[in-house]
Amino acid sequence: EPGLYLVATPIGAARDITLRALDILNAAEMLAAEDTRTLRHLMDIHGIPLRGRRIVAYHDHNADRQRPMLIEALKGGASVAYTSDAGTPMVADPGFKLSRDAAEAGARLHAVPGPSAALAALTVAGLPSDRFLFAGFPPSADGARDSWLRQWASVDATLLLYESPRRVRETLGKLCEIEPNRIIVICRELTKKFEEVIRGTAQELAERVPEDGLKGEVVLVLDRPAPVVLEDGDIREELRQAMTRMSV
Ligand code: SAM
Repeated sequence: EPGLYLVATPIGAARDITLRALDILNAAEMLAAEDTRTLRHLMDIHGIPLRGRRIVAYHDHNADRQRPMLIEALKGGASVAYTSDAGTPMVADPGFKLSRDAAEAGARLHAVPGPSAALAALTVAGLPSDRFLFAGFPPSADGARDSWLRQWASVDATLLLYESPRRVRETLGKLCEIEPNRIIVICRELTKKFEEVIRGTAQELAERVPEDGLKGEVVLVLDRPAPVVLEDGDIREELRQAMTRMSV
């Protein structure tokens, strides 16, 4: 069937690919990938031949240039399979603009679901999963990170963050300032040989992570914030302030 297939690929263990994903990679008329070598390698592992198909590179740096060609192919009724480096395309990975333009051009979008580090982390964190927020990567500039963390950490939901292993300690330090007793789970190298899940309060983990950070890939999962308990005096003060605001 024609259309754009957004194909999830493993985040570690190569066998974490679905049978349907393999069928699609085998049958698609066109293949596009964030990293052509990674897809090529994955296809090799699973014995899927290229059969003369070329893998088109589509990543952050050439997306605007490559997109029109892929959209034209889709308009012409081609089946195009897209994979990002790992996990699910569009989850902190390219693919959004491609899917948007494909949808606007009237092409059909097909999900080929599979691994994503965010959901794998939620699965092993042992934290409430009825409501969660995936906030992606914190900004790298210090000031922006601080306000970003404060903003998302105040949301009443389990919070999922992707973080560079080098910056984990710094982020934990900031989270300590926000709420030292909040339970946090560090999920490292999921589905890989050195998989590790470390649970503790922000304070405990900040002390445990070495100065120079961790190795490998990391997802941070934060328990929801502790409910704000207002003392009687606080309530009176809140009311006074609210009434002052109303009378302005
Ligand atoms: N599209 C991917 C997905 O669906 O999870 C995410 C791509 S994003 C560029 C890469 C980030 O995902 C890493 O920095 C890390 O935070 C997280 N990640 C990917 N693989 C992981 C793994 N095996 N264990 C822990 N975190 C992982």
